[in-house]
Amino acid sequence: MLQFGMQATPINQSCTVPMTQPVLRVALAVPLRASFDYLAPENVSVESLLPGIRLRVPFGRGERIGLLLETVAEPSVARELLKPATAVLDSEPLISKQQLDYLRWVAGYYHHPSGEVFLSALPVWLRKGEALLSTKEPAWQISETGKNLDIQTLGRAKRQQAMLDCFKQSARSMSTEDLKNADVYSRDALKSLVDKGYLEETSRALLAIDNFEKQQDSTFAQQFQPELNAEQQAAVAAVLNQKGFHVSLLFGITGSGKTEVYLSLAQHMLDRNKQALLLVPEISLTPQLFDRFQKRFQSPVVALHSGLSERERALAWQQAATGEARVVIGTRSAVFTRLPELGIVIVDEEHDQSYKQQEGFRYSARDMAVVQGQQFDCPVLLGSATPSFESLHNALKGSYQYLKLTQRAGNAVEPAIDLIDLRSVRLNAGFSPVTRRLIAEQLEQKNQVMVFLNRRGFAPVQSCHDCGWVAQCHRCDARMTVHAGRKRLMCHHCGYQQRIPVQCPDCKSENLITLGQGTEQVENVMNDLFPGVSIVRIDHDSTRQKGSMREKLEAVRQGRHQLLIGTQMLAKGHDFPNVTLVVIMDIDHGLYGSDFRSTERMAQLLLQVAGRAGRADKPGRVLIQTRHPDHPVLHSLIGQGYEAFARQSLQERREAGFPPAGFQVLIRAESARFEVPEKFLRLARNLGQKQLDKKSPDQHIEFWGPVPAVMQRKKGVYRFQLLLQATNRQALHHFLDNWLAQIEMIPEAKKVRWSVDIDPQDFYS
Ligand code: ADP
Ligand code: ZN
Ligand code: ZN
Repeated sequence: MLQFGMQATPINQSCTVPMTQPVLRVALAVPLRASFDYLAPENVSVESLLPGIRLRVPFGRGERIGLLLETVAEPSVARELLKPATAVLDSEPLISKQQLDYLRWVAGYYHHPSGEVFLSALPVWLRKGEALLSTKEPAWQISETGKNLDIQTLGRAKRQQAMLDCFKQSARSMSTEDLKNADVYSRDALKSLVDKGYLEETSRALLAIDNFEKQQDSTFAQQFQPELNAEQQAAVAAVLNQKGFHVSLLFGITGSGKTEVYLSLAQHMLDRNKQALLLVPEISLTPQLFDRFQKRFQSPVVALHSGLSERERALAWQQAATGEARVVIGTRSAVFTRLPELGIVIVDEEHDQSYKQQEGFRYSARDMAVVQGQQFDCPVLLGSATPSFESLHNALKGSYQYLKLTQRAGNAVEPAIDLIDLRSVRLNAGFSPVTRRLIAEQLEQKNQVMVFLNRRGFAPVQSCHDCGWVAQCHRCDARMTVHAGRKRLMCHHCGYQQRIPVQCPDCKSENLITLGQGTEQVENVMNDLFPGVSIVRIDHDSTRQKGSMREKLEAVRQGRHQLLIGTQMLAKGHDFPNVTLVVIMDIDHGLYGSDFRSTERMAQLLLQVAGRAGRADKPGRVLIQTRHPDHPVLHSLIGQGYEAFARQSLQERREAGFPPAGFQVLIRAESARFEVPEKFLRLARNLGQKQLDKKSPDQHIEFWGPVPAVMQRKKGVYRFQLLLQATNRQALHHFLDNWLAQIEMIPEAKKVRWSVDIDPQDFYS
């Protein structure tokens, strides 16, 4: 069928249709920097096809779903080669013209194949070619006559009486499901009441099912809505007082009431008949936040995140795109959602690394939120207790409006932070005697204690006491982690696992030992040290099951556990009001990391973890164990606070030309053959150098590398990288336009997997 269509149609059409018939330029989700042109399907006029609709088109041996970008007079290939699209899937555009312009800009900025960028703006369901979903469900409401009717006049029709009574009590419209829940549903009674004119039929938005079971907790049902304090009011006013696009950075310590500022701004936008978009790091980790929004507003709130089914996601997306949903809360990819009446974009925890997509189309949702605001001429608010240096840099130099919340909201106070010197003390499973004593004190007083260690498993190293052998992954340049509970060695980089050996493979000694601690070991030790205390561990291993994270958090909030042990999963915006002591077991690897962002990340993690302590009326305390208590970074951070620390570090970055003072691009290349990626990157660099030599020397684009990745081999693949750094963003992007097209032609480009990362956040590690 398809084969036939492909051959026959163009030839037939060329006889009957004048050569000037416009062609369809279609975006396809394929990793090629090319445009794809098609003819309109037979019997369909090109004029009736609007940009933004989906088409089914032949591609290779199969078919693909594409998005119509525009109709053009002349195709990019010979007309005879064109095939007609096989089907038109939509009558109305799914993506608006303005949205297409935005996505085009995004694809250009990231130098990414534009088809993948355009299609990533659609939910998977629609990308697969499924039909649009119905976003409404039938519902009924009471009419004026119904309101005035005395239900007794319905006489013996008891079901009608009960149903009408139910409508009289409820201010809202009711669906069949609502009526069933109220135990008054009867098809006949409903029909009679409608026929008599007491009820009117209407329809109502069918909300995408919230993936979290409805919050049963009564504390949320109270709709607590505090009056904003002076700082919060000033922040809200500062955002609302300006017209059109502008960016504000809201720097507010944890618990200072940033979320209340978001809620208030969203409410103002709803009052102006606008939509609000709130981006959050990982919504599956912050059900509390979603509930807080959902309960606050009268208008429909939808969530867009990876925990939804494809269908639920499509429904939420459609409701956002039609304007039925007024508030959209979503993770990273929600920044590409179509919102026809967008009034504000808010990015919560804007420093969070999960905003950066680390594979394929490597975009930063935080950065694109700013572009989106610009494109749709609305304000953007970036909020954090530990802002990224990029945003802080913009705020300090005045490109962003700088707003601060300096006090904890209500009457909570900030925690005190103390350093615990680990030098010359005897450690027990990583704990100093002082730390142990202070934990014991809090436990005795029935308070909660949180122990933070960013290393899961039992121990990071399995070694032989006699010959020094260390268990390595045979596919990665990495050590295997000991998981004692499961009696296995696991590689955290490629997932490879094996039984824990009983004998050293080198010297056959049975004297095998573990070095260092992971969360699993800390849990065991704590069980021995504090018998009878209920302990919960929250890490990747203990929360694998769906819903178990939520369950554990709930149990902690209800006070069923007294001691919490966890990794950075604990640092992400959860409130633990009864935690009075936070212990950070080991801060030192952050002080001496290999990446220029190490200290920024360490500081963010430290303050985010610390911020969990002492929310309500109980003051909190934070202990940081370190072997470098005199380190200047710890001193400025703890002594003078985050902003002072950041200003100092920004000065150092400026001197080195690092972001945000400079601009970087990272080219990664990998292959199972050792020599190829390096050779490819060397050739690429040579081409680039030639191009630069021809231009004036003031462009200041530097190449660093190629160098092997920190972990050179992962899953049996060798990885190399080439870094570009420039002082001028425009010059860099201009250079890339030519250079990337050239390096695609290098024969080695076909033998390696390579990628372009604009504004990289992470180097190959
Ligand atoms: P953040 O998002 O900055 O961590 P939240 O907005 O979650 O802070 O506020 C922290 C706590 O303080 C919440 O329990 C919130 O209800 C409360 N809160 C916020 N603003 C006020 C206020 N103006 N008055 C009293 N309580 C407030
Ligand atoms: Zn040995
Ligand atoms: Zn491995």
